Parts: sequence; C-alpha cells; structure tokens
Amino acid sequence: MNDARSPSSMPDFAVLGGGLCGRLVAWRLAGAGHRVALYERGGADGSNSAAWVAAAMLAPLAESAVAELLVTELGVASLESWPRILAELPEPVFFQRNGTLIVWHRADRTEAPLFERHMRANAPHWLADERFIALAGAQLDAAEPALAGRFGRGWLLAGDGQLDNRQALRALAAGLAQRGVETHWNTAVDDADPPRARVTIDTRGLGAKPALPALRGIRGEVVRVHAPGIGLTRPVRLLHPRYPIYVAPKQNDVYVIGATEIEGEDLSPMSVRSALELLSAAYAVHPAFGEARILELNTQCRPTLPDHLPALVWDGARTLRVNGLYRHGFMIAPEVADEAVRCAQALFEGRIADADAFEVLRRESRWSAMLHAKGACEPD
Ligand SMILES: Cc1cc2nc3c(=O)[nH]c(=O)nc-3n(C[C@H](O)[C@H](O)[C@H](O)COP(=O)(O)OP(=O)(O)OC[C@H]3O[C@@H](n4cnc5c(N)ncnc54)[C@H](O)[C@@H]3O)c2cc1C
Repeated sequence: MNDARSPSSMPDFAVLGGGLCGRLVAWRLAGAGHRVALYERGGADGSNSAAWVAAAMLAPLAESAVAELLVTELGVASLESWPRILAELPEPVFFQRNGTLIVWHRADRTEAPLFERHMRANAPHWLADERFIALAGAQLDAAEPALAGRFGRGWLLAGDGQLDNRQALRALAAGLAQRGVETHWNTAVDDADPPRARVTIDTRGLGAKPALPALRGIRGEVVRVHAPGIGLTRPVRLLHPRYPIYVAPKQNDVYVIGATEIEGEDLSPMSVRSALELLSAAYAVHPAFGEARILELNTQCRPTLPDHLPALVWDGARTLRVNGLYRHGFMIAPEVADEAVRCAQALFEGRIADADAFEVLRRESRWSAMLHAKGACEPD
C-alpha cells in the first residue's frame, strides 16, 4: 500500500473510505489544519459508494415516520449546516429546501393515518406542529401545479430538503484537493495492513464489516430517468401498502425514483419486479413518466447496524469507526461528521487515554447516544 511508513511522514489522520462520510470528515480535519490521508477503494467520482446511488433527500420530517428521534434530530440540525458546508466547497452543488410532498391514491387512503401516527410519535412535537401542512383540492394543486387534479389530499412537510449527491461527492473531492488532503483513490485498505497514522477514522461503510461484524447491508434500488416537461418542484412520496416510493426531481429534468428496501448484501443488477414497481409507481404519480427516458437502474446497499442508528465506535486505542448511516447518510452527515471530528481530535490530542476519559467525552456530547466504546457499549 502506498502509505507513510516512516514516523516523520506519518499523517495526523488516516481516513479509510472516501464515500460520503470519509470525504466530509477528511475535509473538516484538513480545514482545521491537520495533515490527512484518505484511502478509497474506488475512484474520485465516488461511484463505489452508497452515496453515489442515493437520492440524497434531506427529509427529517418525512423520515420520522420510519426513524428514531435521534435520527430526526440529527437530520434537523444537519439541514441547517448543509448550506454553510456547500458554500465553502469549491464547486456548486444543487441544494433545495422546498419541503416533501406526501400524496396517496384514494384506494390507499388508510395508509395516511398510519403514516401520520408514526410521524407524530417519532418526530419532535415542535417539528410536526410547525412543518406539517395538510392540503386538499386547490391548495394541493397550487402547492405542486405539476400534479394538479391528480390527488385529492396531501401533506406538505415544509422545511425538508434535498441535494445532488453526485455533485456533492465531486465538490468534496475538489475540496479535499484544495485543502491538501493526500488522496489515495483506487486503494483498498486491507484490515491486516492498515495505513499508518496517529489516528485512524474508519468510514468504509459496508467495507468495514471485518471490524464491525454486526454491520449488515440493506439493498436499495433506484431508477434515474430524464423526464422533460413534468416540472415537479420538490420530492414527492407516494403512500402505498406494497411499494411506498419517492420521486426526487434533480436539475435538468432528471428524477431519482426509489427505493426498494431488501434485506441482504446482494449487489446484482435491479430485478425486473423492482423496476416494474418503481416505474409503475412513478407513472401513478404522473402519467408523463411513461415517456421518460431511463438513464440508469442502480443498486447499492445501505450500511446498517442492528438498531438502525448511526454509531461512532472507539476501539480503545487510536481508531474511531463511523458507520450505520443506513438510509439517512446525507440527511445526518454534517452532524455525524462534526462529532467524528471532535472525537478524532480528542484522540489525536491524547485526551482519550482510557475508558473513563471516553465516557466523559461521551457524556459531554450533544449526541451521546451515538458514541460507543468497543466492548463496553458498542452496538451488538
Ligand atoms: C438506494 C439508496 C438510496 C438512498 N437515499 C438516501 C436519501 O435519500 N437520503 C439520505 O440521507 N441517504 C440516503 N441513502 C443512504 C446514504 O447513501 C448512506 O447512508 C451513505 O452513503 C453512507 O455513507 P458512508 O460514507 O458511511 O458509506 P458510503 O457512502 O458507502 O462510503 C463508503 C466508502 O468506503 C469505501 N470502501 C469500502 N471498503 C473499503 C476498503 N476496504 N478500502 C477503501 N475504501 C473502502 C467504498 O468504496 C465507499 O466509497 C441511500 C442509500 C441507498 C443505497
């Protein structure tokens, strides 16, 4: 491996994995003046990562129907940070905060109270009270004119957002170069021979399984289409008992339609069933999707821990593992990366010499539920 073998050339931090989390953490550490080396088994475009395939919706309120309070709160805080982060990157990234629209067909109307009940049970009360807007008839048509006359009722979850995942990966790669991060693209890290550094931060997603055996993948499939003339202005989620889907409009009439959730680490191409379900559901949102051109059919696996929560796991020595971002990586990455940087710097400065010191750091954290010491309270 092309790494620093002599102590004098040893970087302060080695970041393993250059997907979403790794890029953000390395960029932050380099911005704080550290010498950082990043190792990514794929190329600089990030096409090996879950982040490459993601719809990159930043939707804490919509996700609260299926996520725990910790994730919703990480998402709410992270949404405020994304614009600051993107403003500092050397390349533009499409970012929008126009809410999520939830709709359903009349035949599926029993799904609506279930969704609302879960959302209100999991979201902070203020968030649901302030940002949940019920719409009917003309109000709905006015909110999303592209869908005028198609749905009788819906909800606008104001404040939710989205960004362009691939632009973000590209801009972060440019940011790493700008800040002098030593990037080792196309360099897979072998657990038996990791690169040397004062502190290591492992952000390899599913690739960290040898070190975090409880990690598992949850397969997700998405379709990318080009559909000029529809003009959705925000991500739309369709409630459905069998295949709840979203249609996320990106720039230039590109839409990301997703996503399946299938247990397992099968990275084979999308099944015909999934393609039929995703495309039929998009067609049900707007029949003009029938004329869309299919750009890509993508499959990736979401790195997931047993409790479906993100975790920062200290190994008791000089390594911090950041993982379990599951289906919320973009939504929560800014806060997760900030916390990882805080812990990594404490390790670097020798402030975490033992389990007691780590416990103090953990208790002081705003996100203490995310911090674990290996062996003590690491996730099963
Ligand atoms: C279909 C789908 C849709 C999604 N939609 C959304 C969404 O709308 N909103 C949202 O917030 N999140 C979404 N996500 C989740 C999000 O993509 C992930 O949570 C996020 O990418 C996790 O970031 P990560 O950095 O931990 O892992 P990754 O982004 O997967 O990055 C891990 C990196 O480590 C590298 N690596 C692995 N092993 C090694 C090794 N041995 N050596 C070197 N490098 C290695 C990989 O190549 C990869 O680049 C979605 C995910 C999927 C699959």
